[in-house]
Amino acid sequence: MKITRISVYHKDLPLKDPYWLSGGRLLFEVLDATFIKLETDAGLVGWGEGTPWGNTYVPAHGPGIRAGLETMAGSILGLDPRKLELVEYAMDKCLPGHLYAKSPIDMACWDILGQSCDLSIADLLGGKRETGTPAASSVSSGEPDYMLGIVNSYRGMGYVAHSAKVGGSDTDKDIERIRHIEANRKPGEIVLYDVNRAWTRREASIVMNAVADLGVTFEQPGETLDDLAEIRKVTTSPISVDETLVTLQDACRIAREGIADVFGIKLNRVGGLTKARRIRDVAMAHGIQMFIMATGGSVLADTEAAHLAQSMPDEFIRACWSCQDMLTVDVAPGSGPRCVDGFITIDDTPGLGVVPDENLLGDPVAVYE
Ligand code: MG
Repeated sequence: MKITRISVYHKDLPLKDPYWLSGGRLLFEVLDATFIKLETDAGLVGWGEGTPWGNTYVPAHGPGIRAGLETMAGSILGLDPRKLELVEYAMDKCLPGHLYAKSPIDMACWDILGQSCDLSIADLLGGKRETGTPAASSVSSGEPDYMLGIVNSYRGMGYVAHSAKVGGSDTDKDIERIRHIEANRKPGEIVLYDVNRAWTRREASIVMNAVADLGVTFEQPGETLDDLAEIRKVTTSPISVDETLVTLQDACRIAREGIADVFGIKLNRVGGLTKARRIRDVAMAHGIQMFIMATGGSVLADTEAAHLAQSMPDEFIRACWSCQDMLTVDVAPGSGPRCVDGFITIDDTPGLGVVPDENLLGDPVAVYE
């Protein structure tokens, strides 16, 4: 089987509400999504998506995906999409780094592999757990009551997991936010306080020690892995690592040095499922739980993450994310798993199990063949 054509689509995905990160430092209103359709000489078609969370969140942006695809297309055409690591090797040789540009190709290859052998991606990743995965909300930073209002609106949709965005130089405000949400937390709910790198070491120490009695988990409470290692020494709260978990080497270092207790694996950031499954395995070998998420995007990106999330035992998965619920546009109406009563559950559809409506994507912005 050979890849014969790569069609690239560009689609803006507006958010329902303005979204603030880092205590109001960063604003997001529209996501720049790239969809790809991979066609083969066997008639099988795979779909991939790459949707960075804007261009200020991590070193990734929508136009960069499309430029990367233009650079790599000649190295990908003619390859067998079922041979995932040969495709991975070809992309890494043609364009070192730029993992976020490779992720959509990798996703489409997994889609085709699953269809070719009649298995879901979750089954290909080792075997699909029967129970679904809790979907986490993403709670924009703001005043404590504003944030609790967002949590409540997600509760109304059945969500039991929430990622509340804190961070910034007003440490008193962060302490207030965390105490307010915790005072109103329901039994059994999972709440993660996501700093998104927005604290200095001093700010992290102040806030995390001030709420140490709550035992809550903080995600990425510093800029670098060195920062997290030092914050670790002066605090006792569990730490999740997200933005600075990019490569397999990062995962090995974090696990060996005990820098974090939880991995936040974002598929677009780490370069797709082929690379992410190795990070998953490092986590499971070291007693590290995981949040598995897209960096953002449509039901396609959510579904890719849900497959990986459902490929591991319950005790290792904290939650995945349903970014699709934050968008005003649905590119695949009626297709793919949705968040139902707070959970996303993969079925036995071979491959990815979701196909966009091409009429909603518009004309391709590039075709390589
Ligand atoms: Mg995070």
